[in-house]
Amino acid sequence: MLELWENTLKSLQDQMAAQHFEAWLRPIRASMDGEVLVLRVPNKFAKDWLTNNYLEMIRDKLRGTGGSDVALRLDLESAAQDDGQAALVATEALATQGAHVEPPRPTPGLNPKYNFQNFVVGPSNQLAHAAALAAAQMPGRKYNPLFIYGGVGLGKTHLVNAIGHALHARDPNQRILYLSAERFTNDFIDCLQNKRMDEFRARYRRQCDVLLMDDIQFIAGRDQTQEEFFHTFNALYDGFRQIVVTSDKYPQEIPDLQERLVSRFLWGLIADIQAPEMETRVAILRKKALAEQIALPDEVAFWLAENIKSNVRELEGTLIRLVAQASTQKRDITMDLARETLRIAAPTHVTSLSVEDIQRVVCTYYNVKIKELTGDRRNRSISFPRQVAMFICRNHLKTSYPELGQKFGGKDHSTVIAACRKIESLLHTDSSLQSAVETIERKLGLAS
Ligand code: ADP
Ligand code: MG
Repeated sequence: MLELWENTLKSLQDQMAAQHFEAWLRPIRASMDGEVLVLRVPNKFAKDWLTNNYLEMIRDKLRGTGGSDVALRLDLESAAQDDGQAALVATEALATQGAHVEPPRPTPGLNPKYNFQNFVVGPSNQLAHAAALAAAQMPGRKYNPLFIYGGVGLGKTHLVNAIGHALHARDPNQRILYLSAERFTNDFIDCLQNKRMDEFRARYRRQCDVLLMDDIQFIAGRDQTQEEFFHTFNALYDGFRQIVVTSDKYPQEIPDLQERLVSRFLWGLIADIQAPEMETRVAILRKKALAEQIALPDEVAFWLAENIKSNVRELEGTLIRLVAQASTQKRDITMDLARETLRIAAPTHVTSLSVEDIQRVVCTYYNVKIKELTGDRRNRSISFPRQVAMFICRNHLKTSYPELGQKFGGKDHSTVIAACRKIESLLHTDSSLQSAVETIERKLGLAS
């Protein structure tokens, strides 16, 4: 088992800047505690640093070296200091090891709170998480570009930041640009007005090894910015440099996004993040509570997770409000307090409707069979209800396109997108369609 660690260490050494390997990985003492591989580090500072920056990579390498189900634990070497002093000691120790060895600094622009370590993985975000890890481990090679899309507050910004931190930890000399498309736009306009386009292009093309662009949907409809982004993209892509883009919509669904950009986004991997499942929501609450040292009873965690389904930001927000209530009222976090807090916050309307419910009602309305609705026949009397059903599902359930395609008999996601678009645009003009959709929604208890 310890041999496994030796091999892992060797392959890590091949991948990392030498001084960081010497500073962070070399001092680790490995031993076995039963089945658990224990890695001992000199102090708390080193432990935190390893946890935040290298643990995922270590795990991954272990897996790659054949230790797929090795349990891993980071421990302090005995009698290590566990206070703020430790950081100082560590830095001094490093400084005496060699003039070049400094702890890498956080990359400006990245949010220090968002790393892989505190991202909870579940079925809803598994693909996006795996792709993000791969992009961080083999930048520019495996998934380029990586396009992460999902609704508000589901962890897109968290994941891109995690990629940035992981890349930076591996090689602090890598030039990582993390910014929102809004900032890119403003920067562009600014440089254009002040005739500093050379500077702009140097910054985003020549001096950039990794581009992490958040909320790309912002450049929709801004032709000049899109033009500039297009050339930026090409320059980076041709240089095998990693591009990660997030969006609240699927590329083809972003209105007024130039076709050539859409097609480039489709070159790489499109990974979506869905609203988290119950278990993931509970896990997120627990992780957050642990990090903030909040005593959160299981019962309350489950109850919150059951009531707030759509969005992780809201889930976190509610937990924070709950903690605030508890501390101002000097009460413990209990079910009673949770109910009071959530009542004040007016819980979001949650629907437990399924795709199948919608299909059923649409079928009744148009007098077609479920089998036909999910079948392949294309005559209008069937394809039209099918498109309406897809549209209503997407609109109310926010089901992903690929999943909807599945539920409609294994259709391609592009078929679903086209259907939703068509119905949406018809709805502006076609009053009989309007009333059909209204009736169906009313039957489903959706219309207000
Ligand atoms: P988005 O960019 O998709 O709108 P964010 O990345 O800003 O969402 O996430 C909103 C909040 O939820 C952040 O505080 C983030 O840390 C948290 N969050 C989202 N998904 C997860 C997850 N899987 N594990 C832990 N925290 C998460
Ligand atoms: Mg975001």
